Amino acid sequence: MGNEIPLEAHADFNKYINDGRQFLKNQAIEAAIQSFEKAFAIKGNAPELSFVLAKLLQVAGKPDKSDVYYKYSLALSPNNFEYLYDYMMHLVDTSRYTDAIEVLQRCIRLHPENAQLFNDMGVLHNALQNYSEAIDHFLNAFKINPDYLVPMINLGYLYVQTGEIGKADDILALCLKKEPQNSEINDLAKVIAAARSTTDSGMPVIRKELRFSDQSFQIVPMQILEKFGASISSGTIGLSIVIPVYNEEDNLPILCKELNETLKTLQQEYEIILVDDGSRDKSRDVMTALARDDKRIKVIFFRRNYGQTAAISAGFKYAHGDVIITLDADLQNDPADIPKLLQKMSEGYDLVNGWRKDRQDKMLSRKIPSMIANRIINKLIEGTNVQLRDFGCTLKAYKSGIVKNIHIYGEMHRFIPVFAAWIGVKVTEIPVNHRPRIHGTAKYNLSRVSRVIFDLIVVRFFSDYMTRPIQFFGKIAKRITGSGLFLLAVLSVCGLTHLLPVSLNTILILTALLFFTSMQLLTMGLIGELMIRFYFEVQKKDFYVVERILNDTEIA
Ligand code: UDP
Ligand code: MG
Repeated sequence: MGNEIPLEAHADFNKYINDGRQFLKNQAIEAAIQSFEKAFAIKGNAPELSFVLAKLLQVAGKPDKSDVYYKYSLALSPNNFEYLYDYMMHLVDTSRYTDAIEVLQRCIRLHPENAQLFNDMGVLHNALQNYSEAIDHFLNAFKINPDYLVPMINLGYLYVQTGEIGKADDILALCLKKEPQNSEINDLAKVIAAARSTTDSGMPVIRKELRFSDQSFQIVPMQILEKFGASISSGTIGLSIVIPVYNEEDNLPILCKELNETLKTLQQEYEIILVDDGSRDKSRDVMTALARDDKRIKVIFFRRNYGQTAAISAGFKYAHGDVIITLDADLQNDPADIPKLLQKMSEGYDLVNGWRKDRQDKMLSRKIPSMIANRIINKLIEGTNVQLRDFGCTLKAYKSGIVKNIHIYGEMHRFIPVFAAWIGVKVTEIPVNHRPRIHGTAKYNLSRVSRVIFDLIVVRFFSDYMTRPIQFFGKIAKRITGSGLFLLAVLSVCGLTHLLPVSLNTILILTALLFFTSMQLLTMGLIGELMIRFYFEVQKKDFYVVERILNDTEIA
């Protein structure tokens, strides 16, 4: 799941990378390796770093350690052609041809049209003296690309080795027809001639190393480093602050000042992402001015008001940080709590939720509905192991992998912890400061309660019945039928005993209604099933989230 790197380690990581680069510039490979290894200890999920280490260790003459790092990078990016091919060549260097064949097969699966790979496959089989297979592969390479002569030359040498001089001659003729001036072909001609004379006089045949296609890039540490540097520098932002803004003109300057003061103390690269949710006051101008003066402030403008969840979701999309923090723009959340959230996160949590322990809002329209809503939510999500006291608090800290993997709609941003718990990450909460609103007005009223409850039904549906909608609708149909039948029975008894004036007609109509309702619910369930099939199968989506796979790079 995403980047699991604790924030305070980020600075160290960058330092080790830079040190390593410096060492390499001075050709101090051993020292560079040590520095990169320290960086790798902090951020073990960086396949490229692992690959660089593998290459460097190869240069340093430590094939065993190099092996480990190759395997790491391949476990992290199993389908990276470059890693696979270079690992294959590394296996060749250490004479592990059978393993090399296996890895090369994976390369071929990625690029089945690449004639060079078939040539290499032929060379490997030749090295293992599987001549008939080697011949097949060379011919295959030739079939794919008749202008690429390396496999044919190799085949010529192979025939010399196996003593089939006649066949070698045929191959030579074919090559000469294509490229009469090629020096490699002329070499082959000489070898064939020499072989003919030696076999005539009973001497052993000439063996020659066959030629690989040489697509792996040369081991030039500086070059690796440049490639590597490009991707590292883009990932140096440790922290992204995401803030939804709707008509908060007076709050924004104070908010940014408070944020900068707190964030400065963290000694982290950070970005503040303000998402303007179609404000109608001067907020847009204020934000434009703020962004002009401080490059760390980024602003996303919506065309119209889409709601707080949409704003937060856009912020998530454009955030670059390893850790993402959300808070309200109305100054009710206190930026000074951010270090506390991070502190808690460094204890091993993936999501830290703020809890407005001493909430500064109106009792009747805010606190009581929120209390009830939190109760209901907790009741409904009992099975997930997440129980929070304050889902509504926007001040939360997430590891970026979480928010990049969750899509939110409606009023759902408050349910991210539920989704997160559902995909199996560690969630906790800590008390945070809450301040009364001074500038601007609150945008919500009691009507939000019902919206939240509707979304909760969706959350519940998604977490438990997403893959089996018919179970969800079926359960409702079952309950309705049950209670309907019970009521009908009571009514019938009342009618028969003349306790109530219930006619047979009424009972018939009610029975029909009950029947139709249940049928309809079941049909809806079936339609739901159909749609879910589309959803997962068209997009080839998995309905589970794999945490990691050990050893088996093949599966992924
Ligand atoms: N907000 C938003 N779009 C909206 C309503 C609110 O982006 O349609 C923002 C608002 O600017 C504030 C946060 O969401 O930063 C919370 O809003 P508010 O303080 O009104 O809600 P409450 O604190 O009562 O949950
Ligand atoms: Mg507020």
